[in-house]
Amino acid sequence: MDQVSARQISASSLRFTEHPLQRCGAWAVAVLAGCERVEHVTEEQFEVVSRRIVDDAADAAVARQGSGAYDWWKVLFALYPNSKPTHARREKDRTVLSQEMARLFAPDEINGPVRACTFCGQPTDVLWAKSTLPMFDSIRALNTLPPGTPGWPVCRGCRVALWALPYGAWLTAGSATVLMCDNPQVERQFVVRNVRRAGRIRQLGFDGLPAMAGPEAVTLQALREHASDAPAATSLWMFKNDNQEPWLRVSGTRTGVARFVHRMRADPDSAKGWRDLCRALAHRDRQGRAAVDGATAAARLLFDREGERSDRLPMELWARSGDAEKVARHTLVRWRALCRLYVEVMYEMDPDRIKPVAELLASWIAQESPRGRFNEYRRAAGSGYELHKLLMTAGARLYLDGRTQRIEPELLGDLLASGSQGWRERTLLFFEVIEALHNKKVVIGATSSEVADEDSEEIRFDTSNGDEAEEYA
Ligand SMILES: [Zn+2]
Repeated sequence: MDQVSARQISASSLRFTEHPLQRCGAWAVAVLAGCERVEHVTEEQFEVVSRRIVDDAADAAVARQGSGAYDWWKVLFALYPNSKPTHARREKDRTVLSQEMARLFAPDEINGPVRACTFCGQPTDVLWAKSTLPMFDSIRALNTLPPGTPGWPVCRGCRVALWALPYGAWLTAGSATVLMCDNPQVERQFVVRNVRRAGRIRQLGFDGLPAMAGPEAVTLQALREHASDAPAATSLWMFKNDNQEPWLRVSGTRTGVARFVHRMRADPDSAKGWRDLCRALAHRDRQGRAAVDGATAAARLLFDREGERSDRLPMELWARSGDAEKVARHTLVRWRALCRLYVEVMYEMDPDRIKPVAELLASWIAQESPRGRFNEYRRAAGSGYELHKLLMTAGARLYLDGRTQRIEPELLGDLLASGSQGWRERTLLFFEVIEALHNKKVVIGATSSEVADEDSEEIRFDTSNGDEAEEYA
């Protein structure tokens, strides 16, 4: 590049925009340049980053299969399937290919008609189409060119940012995930982790990576570190841009999640409950390697798919505790704490308000044949309709014994609600019933602290007067 054209475009041509892919790429340029903020990237640093992107792409295009550089080629292929370095009939000479690539990022000369950049609005005369733009010409985001239009105007800063994207995104060989958050520090940390990971992919390939946290777990960690005092919502875009079937999946966390994660860490029972959950969710393959990272699987429970409020955490806790005899007592205590904290933080509800119902059920279970009655409750606990019937039976039975327990109609309505609200409330109730039974010295669940979740263990149901003890394997 000659002196004049270098001066024509200053490094400040890199702008930060609201477009998720450009934004992730702009962060990646900043992180690759060693800068705290996008605005701090100097002209010189910008040139270095741009050359590095070209070099890495050229290495990838001529790499032999099985090498780390070849895996980087797979990444580029998934994002820019018809571009110079990824095309099936690509140039095989590395030097020629580098020159072709470098031309994509050359400073704007402004010879043709000037248009505003699609992303940041700066003037440019360069038009790009889907071969160089990820996610363009697909279902979502701007993206289908009107007929007869030669391409999208994209300025130099944004062109480099869009190819820095794979450094800042969380990658698989076929997809990329970017994060948006109201808090810039959370976005930056997400990108910092991914830049490091991208370096390992280029060196070792995907198979050489140690089992590492997925995008949801990385997001939660960043939220915990940076967003505890000013809660921020996040949104993850996971996408693939290949020739066959481009797709985009959007998920996100509500603002309460940052606070939830922060408080969870501060509360020993909840923190251990989360750890137990991570362990229960982890899977290993036959070689004993982690096939599913438990921390990522657990983090995913705090994400909602676009347009949904699914409360997957309480649902998962319920699914894993329904067979209460097989879960260690200490795990039930911890999961109760986790569930209570969830409704308290995410819904600003007092978890104790459900206690009268739990008390009613526990009294009824403890009254006679606790094992049979507990099983009866457990079968009904997942369904609003069945639970309602059981509450009527239990209430009537206790009434005959001269005991009454009034339940507020509003609370009853919440418990019997359909959808995730009902699930959430009934899960909370389930843990409260177990706790109330424990207080009445009716033992539910395994007593050994050694018990593994899937092991079948000796089960004891003791009542306070000790006249009944049952066992079965
Ligand atoms: Zn631009």
